[in-house]
Amino acid sequence: MNPFQPGVSPDVMECRLPERPQPCAVVIFGASGDLTSRKLIPALARIYRAGDLPDNFAIVGAARTPMTTEAFREKAREWLAAAGHLDGLDWEGLARRLFYHSMDYADLEGYRGLGKALADAEAQLGLPGNRMFYLAIPPTLYEAVAVNLGEAGLAGQDTPEGWTRIVVEKPFGRDLESSRKLDRAMHQHFQEGQIFRIDHYLAKETVQNVLLFRFANAVFEPVWNRNYVDYVSILAAESLGVEHRAGYYEEAGVLRDMFQNHMMQLLSLAAMEPPSVFRAREVLDEKTKLYRSLRPFDPEKGFGHLVLGQYGPSADGSLPAYRQEPGVSPSSLTPTFAMLKAYVDNWRWQGVPFYICSGKRLAGKITRMVVQFKEVPHSIYRNVVGEHVSANRLIMEVYPNETIHLSLQAKQSGEGFCLRTASMSFDFKGGYAGPPVDSYEKVILDCMLGDHMLFWRQDGVELSWAYLTPILELCEQQVEMEKNLFLYPAGSWGPRDASMVHLNYLKDLT
Ligand code: NDP
Repeated sequence: MNPFQPGVSPDVMECRLPERPQPCAVVIFGASGDLTSRKLIPALARIYRAGDLPDNFAIVGAARTPMTTEAFREKAREWLAAAGHLDGLDWEGLARRLFYHSMDYADLEGYRGLGKALADAEAQLGLPGNRMFYLAIPPTLYEAVAVNLGEAGLAGQDTPEGWTRIVVEKPFGRDLESSRKLDRAMHQHFQEGQIFRIDHYLAKETVQNVLLFRFANAVFEPVWNRNYVDYVSILAAESLGVEHRAGYYEEAGVLRDMFQNHMMQLLSLAAMEPPSVFRAREVLDEKTKLYRSLRPFDPEKGFGHLVLGQYGPSADGSLPAYRQEPGVSPSSLTPTFAMLKAYVDNWRWQGVPFYICSGKRLAGKITRMVVQFKEVPHSIYRNVVGEHVSANRLIMEVYPNETIHLSLQAKQSGEGFCLRTASMSFDFKGGYAGPPVDSYEKVILDCMLGDHMLFWRQDGVELSWAYLTPILELCEQQVEMEKNLFLYPAGSWGPRDASMVHLNYLKDLT
């Protein structure tokens, strides 16, 4: 179905969902937590205000914290007020659809109680029984909650008559084996079609735009290959440190935190083949094919294709080292920075390096993809001023700007004949006056609609873990890490050695 309204000028056309989700209940496990307060309740409130939630719905919070439904409503109001989301919101309309059930995640009886509370809320509001269970809890609890939901008879089904879906946040395990174990636990009672593995990066508008840019413009796809592309750089730099998540980060490090999920998704969007149709199964099939084409990381070459770093104190001493952060071991060897040179072994990409880089406490927060094209095969401008013909470069920026820049060579104005580099730019938000769409709004709505396009499928999860396994194993070798983990000053662009793996690393950031 065409989501664009016909007959509307492209400048002002509205881009709405093709349909409104069916009435349903959203159950949030971990309803007292950070994700619920900062992301989920605000996202639900915003889509309610925008009129995109179903006509009829309930939101049921579940957690151990003892709380009445009234107290939960009051908490939700405070969260929304603090973030400025009460303006223009029919708060009373939303509040009467909020419920709370206190329970222990390990106790089967708690789930039976939840089932009863849910049925009562559904009866009160006249809901048909469609249910979405959102696991906003620590990943160590995923297996128990998924299994207990099933044991309590709450796993339901996925049919046109009624559906039950379960949503999990990354991380999906901490390695290949544990991701398989989690998957087996989830599949005890849920079918693959009922499982939604969130990677909220994928729901960012500019990330969604990558495939559109590639496959809806005839001019780019013919040059999107080894014949024209010199290299591709995928960068996600964070200026923040580990903040209050030291316990999690000490276990995860940058490879589990960023590479296994977000960076691999960005890589697949940059490199995958066009699917025959823009539909979840076909798109996910192409991503899987791409992950299968990744050249396995060679531990022999090891640190020739990989730089790992950890932030030390900032040069002026104002920012602490990673090892000085509360909850971090003073002798920690956890990498907070990684630069990986990857290759895709297929016809399109043979020999083209993909530089994948992410780090914490860097000099800025930047997420972008750089496609560096090759130089012209022969320069006819050898005899003119500024004779160097720079190669074209495409920068798709996700953060801080939502823009696409294509660098071109042009004539410098003036009597003489000089070359200069010009830029053609596209601002993603140009011509759009509506409110920004948060990625959590998008994933919640897509889950209600049963659309898996922006979610991970288990085969992709496993291939991603399998690819990273030799690198993770390298990280576990203390002697290797003591030798090869480079300290970099907090607030810098990471270890200088990153430029040994990727010569143009700093150029790609500016
Ligand atoms: P929290 O640490 O805030 O935990 C959520 C809730 O789970 C808590 O309020 C608590 O509720 C319960 N809980 C916490 N620890 C335990 C425990 N050891 N045993 C039993 N229950 C516990 O997590 P977040 O909200 O930050 O994250 C939830 C999920 O979302 C995680 O998987 C995380 O990786 C993922 N995520 C979070 C993001 C964020 O921005 N916060 C971003 C991306 C992903 P109670 O005690 O009331 O039961």
